[in-house]
Amino acid sequence: MEKYDLAIIGTGPIGLFAASFANLHGLKTISFDALDEVGGQINMLYPQKNIKDIPAFPSIKGEKLVSQLFEQNTNTKFILSHKVKEISFLENENILIDKTYKVKSLLIATGLGAFKPKTLPLSTTLDIQKHIHYSMQHPEIFANKKVAILGGGDSALDWALELATTSDIFLIHRRNEFRGLESSVNKLKSLKNVELLTPYLPKDVQLNNNRMELVLHKVGASQDFVTKNVDEILVAYGFKSDNRQLRKWGIKLDHNLIAVSQQMHTNLPHVYAIGDAITYPGRVPMIALGFGEAQIAISNIMQDLFPEKTMTFHSTSI
Ligand SMILES: Cc1cc2nc3c(=O)[nH]c(=O)nc-3n(C[C@H](O)[C@H](O)[C@H](O)COP(=O)(O)OP(=O)(O)OC[C@H]3O[C@@H](n4cnc5c(N)ncnc54)[C@H](O)[C@@H]3O)c2cc1C
Repeated sequence: MEKYDLAIIGTGPIGLFAASFANLHGLKTISFDALDEVGGQINMLYPQKNIKDIPAFPSIKGEKLVSQLFEQNTNTKFILSHKVKEISFLENENILIDKTYKVKSLLIATGLGAFKPKTLPLSTTLDIQKHIHYSMQHPEIFANKKVAILGGGDSALDWALELATTSDIFLIHRRNEFRGLESSVNKLKSLKNVELLTPYLPKDVQLNNNRMELVLHKVGASQDFVTKNVDEILVAYGFKSDNRQLRKWGIKLDHNLIAVSQQMHTNLPHVYAIGDAITYPGRVPMIALGFGEAQIAISNIMQDLFPEKTMTFHSTSI
């Protein structure tokens, strides 16, 4: 049986940083992710976005931030495409993960849970499905094409802004108001190659001569339909997240998120949690905040595992 000091569930930005900070402290660490790539929400939803609120980086592309966080992990063992399903406690307070990995402590960094995109609610053929996408992991697919983006939140707006640099965009949302940043909406409205179609819902899609005819229905107007010819459809209806296993593991939740102490400790012995998976008064879902939580959690895990050690905090003295 493989043994580790620490297991981290989730390789989003916060789990990745926690693993590298654990490396610095010399913890033998194993990290799991249900997805086949590290990077969590950044990788799935906005790898091309220029993130502007990471300290010391005036602007950094999502995928670059993920690759640099990954590079910092010189000693972590990564197990990808592995959704952790079961944790159990052994007599000596060690934790057994999926009956295979024995660890002394566990850090949950599962964000909003293992996520799956909400799919386009239209009947489609396999040929059409090849042109329907739920993430922007490969932006080159959309270059110099006509792209319909469906949705009204941050992802839809970010994707539209990004793809508008190379492509013609139809941004289709069922309400007149978007749920994302007003500055993004204003920027999109100013672009000639972006058409905002609100309040519209997709009604039908057909493939004709390798191009899709996307029929849209104006919400509240029974006879008002428009048809747009598009090459690719990018659906940003959000994700269904599944964190049901947290309940099974006996973790105390507050509104479906993990309740933690100021030390990032959960209600279970040697089990800590950080990042978007957790809640406490005033928490906001921001990457930089999660980095700080990772440092609090790892420092407390060190004290928990090695109470006899004098704690060193700074990388230069570790
Ligand atoms: C469109 C958009 C734009 C954003 N822009 C910014 C921004 O500009 N600046 C900013 O600071 N924040 C931004 N955010 C928020 C930021 O992305 C999140 O706060 C951050 O990703 C949270 O990181 P995390 O590591 O906690 O969780 P996540 O990134 O959600 O990663 C969690 C990982 O855990 C994995 N996982 C879950 N359950 C399991 C399981 N049982 N077994 C194995 N793996 C599991 C998932 O597969 C996932 O990879 C944005 C979010 C969105 C949606």
